Amino acid sequence: MTLTLQDCRDRDAEDPLRALRDLFALPAGQIYLDGNSLGLAPRATAARVAQVVQQEWAQDLITSWNKAGWVDLPQRLGNQFAPWLGARRDELVFTDTTSINLFKVLTAAARIAAEDAPARRRLLTERSNFPTDLYIAESVCAQHGLQLVLLEPEEIPAALDDQAAILLLTHVNYRTGAMHDMAGLTAAAHAHGILCVWDLCHSAGAVPIDLHAADADFAVGCGYKYLNGGPGAPAFVWAHPRVVNRCAQPLAGWFGHAAPFAFTPGYAPADGIQRYLCGTQPIISLSALQCGLDVFSATEPLGGMAALRAKSLALTDLFIALVEQRCAGHGLGLATPLAHEKRGSQVCLTRDEGLGVDGQGSGAYAIVQALIARGVIGDFRQGDGGVGRHKDILRFGFTPLYLGFEDVWNAAEQLRQVLESGEWREARFHQRQAVT
Ligand SMILES: *Cc1c(COP(=O)(O)O)cnc(C)c1O
Repeated sequence: MTLTLQDCRDRDAEDPLRALRDLFALPAGQIYLDGNSLGLAPRATAARVAQVVQQEWAQDLITSWNKAGWVDLPQRLGNQFAPWLGARRDELVFTDTTSINLFKVLTAAARIAAEDAPARRRLLTERSNFPTDLYIAESVCAQHGLQLVLLEPEEIPAALDDQAAILLLTHVNYRTGAMHDMAGLTAAAHAHGILCVWDLCHSAGAVPIDLHAADADFAVGCGYKYLNGGPGAPAFVWAHPRVVNRCAQPLAGWFGHAAPFAFTPGYAPADGIQRYLCGTQPIISLSALQCGLDVFSATEPLGGMAALRAKSLALTDLFIALVEQRCAGHGLGLATPLAHEKRGSQVCLTRDEGLGVDGQGSGAYAIVQALIARGVIGDFRQGDGGVGRHKDILRFGFTPLYLGFEDVWNAAEQLRQVLESGEWREARFHQRQAVT
């Protein structure tokens, strides 16, 4: 069946989540398909940050640590968002970055594994994991004498054996949008005595997650992608109650101490997830992040994550169908799985090598730049130039909080025009910027 613009408008009219877009500052004339990289600003954020700066800081100064509740903001935000991850009260904190939190939990997992099963020497992860995850894993392996094993997704089940200590996976792959079966892989890993660390950067706020049902050991994730916390927003860290107090995390700072304001010379970790805090927390950033988390609280009466997930799948299904119907014959392929249970909230298109200008490269970068010039904001992720299995990627994130079905229609239509006009071949679209 051929889809029409009117079909898309009808779907917007019926969308129970439609009003949520009013909670965001939507830049005029743009279709923002990069909420998986940097989420939009909630309208409430600017006023909240101004209040923190002008009142809590400028006027109330040091008293705000108590009076404005600065001192336990990481825990309060953790408690607010915990249900969205299937975590319980006092199990989650927002603090530091994903990279830093990953260093803490991988080190903790390495220490636990060294105690329980010293013969196990391998840390397993996916070759196409987000590079910072690989770099942190490399550094933890170097410090703990572990071997880092990089796997393709289909090699993971067979690699779960009694040589492996830790399995580190990102739930939704940043390049392809493919989603792992968290519960299934965790159960398979646990059957072999392997600790499981899940990175939820591309899943938190985007897909249903139940850390307790999956029985994960540790999890980390990002505050500035689907949680709309602002650039460099604090990330989160979670540890299952059975492991959280097994060891102190490696960055023993005073905010993770059992009694920070006792000012004792020796370190004694706090009970529970609070020990994963390190130094003084970024209150302005945490306050901005709270506005992002408040949006999720506002979706609860509208159906919460089930409604968000249903809309996200409808948006990505629609984009895949429209690209297939309207952009055929231009060398595009689909890197994102069609099966719903294997798809996150993004659609990643590939383009064959040799289709770029003068047969150089794939042209994917220039196509993304030409789309951006037309106000359709996606991004580009570099492939391996045809030597391996990774093609160049045109990446489009679909955030059900603020995108509509007509937006999806318009995005696919702009892509069609960019491809058919060949305007992406213009030299101005080939200039590489620092951030792609
Ligand atoms: C976005 C992302 C990160 C980012 O880590 P930072 O420490 O915030 O820079 C890490 N891992 C994955 C899988 C990501 O998608």
